[in-house]
Amino acid sequence: MAVDIDWKNLNFAYTKTPFRYVCDYKNGKWDEGKLTEDSTVKISECAGVLQYAQTAFEGLKVYTAEDGRTVAFRPDLNAERMACSAKRLEMPVFPEDKFLEAVDMLVKANCEYVPPYGSGASLYIRPVMFATSPVLGVKPAVEYQFRMFCTPVGPYFKNGIKPLTLRVTDFDRAAPHGTGHIKAGLNYAMSLHAIVDAHNLGYDENMYLDSTTRTFVEETGGANFIFVTGDGKIVTPLSESILPSITRRSICYVAENYLNLKVENRQVRLDELKNFAECGLCGTAAVISPVGRIDNHGEIINFPSGMQSMGKTTKKLYDALTGIQYGRLPAPKGWLREIKK
Ligand SMILES: *Cc1c(COP(=O)(O)O)cnc(C)c1O
Repeated sequence: MAVDIDWKNLNFAYTKTPFRYVCDYKNGKWDEGKLTEDSTVKISECAGVLQYAQTAFEGLKVYTAEDGRTVAFRPDLNAERMACSAKRLEMPVFPEDKFLEAVDMLVKANCEYVPPYGSGASLYIRPVMFATSPVLGVKPAVEYQFRMFCTPVGPYFKNGIKPLTLRVTDFDRAAPHGTGHIKAGLNYAMSLHAIVDAHNLGYDENMYLDSTTRTFVEETGGANFIFVTGDGKIVTPLSESILPSITRRSICYVAENYLNLKVENRQVRLDELKNFAECGLCGTAAVISPVGRIDNHGEIINFPSGMQSMGKTTKKLYDALTGIQYGRLPAPKGWLREIKK
């Protein structure tokens, strides 16, 4: 029963698939959890999520490996990160084993929507949890829903790899002891104005700085930075208010253990950007997107890797990580969760 989808021309957008997983939290516990065909949510107009944005989400990918296996990339880390997000937002933790079971159930039920190997497309999984019970006085809700749906998404570099142009923004993404390190919807709501503004001015993304001193590089609205030095070392910004990207952590491991590169996770000063040879953005959606140029209030930093292609080292990292994801290279233990149809 094959579905009729033009895998190569899919965008990163929501396409409804037949089944989603839903689990409700009530009277202090999560219910059994089940698959449903109902893609709508019916909640109180006074639900905590609608009033005070008590919600967190995740994002991960499932794809067909070269040998035909259906695999999820490190979903255990998404389960773990969602638990951190829940704790910070005073929501109940969705058990990590249940999270992995939900991935299996969801993917099996929608198995015709897992794109074939070689298409460059993948099945994007979106777990989300939110406060469903009414709250008016500001406090945590008592009831929640955990939901996981999936949607096929196309290859990120559909029109070829085009290095991005960023601007250093004067808006802040995260406060030092705020919520920058968790995947909360609220971090995105307040980033929308900054990204629309950047797009209006012709930039692809915002580079956010630390909001205390505005001298250190943090990340963009939805991806971590990775820099390459002239002598081929990998440098990633260290900060308490950065979202701990699973892609970035995986790339650092791959750099050290597969490519024999030195990796430094340290504070990166804005004024040292001009010394780097390459720059990339990492996240689940693109793995790595090369950055060619950064505009710091009129001071333009052009990376030597240029505006035509991925830098040499960035490309090596990209090939190694996607090689592992697609089963062309041996994966570190536990990185690929096979989902049996
Ligand atoms: C999701 C996200 C990332 C990327 O994380 P991955 O786990 O690699 O997908 C980076 N920065 C922010 C702010 C994010 O929300």
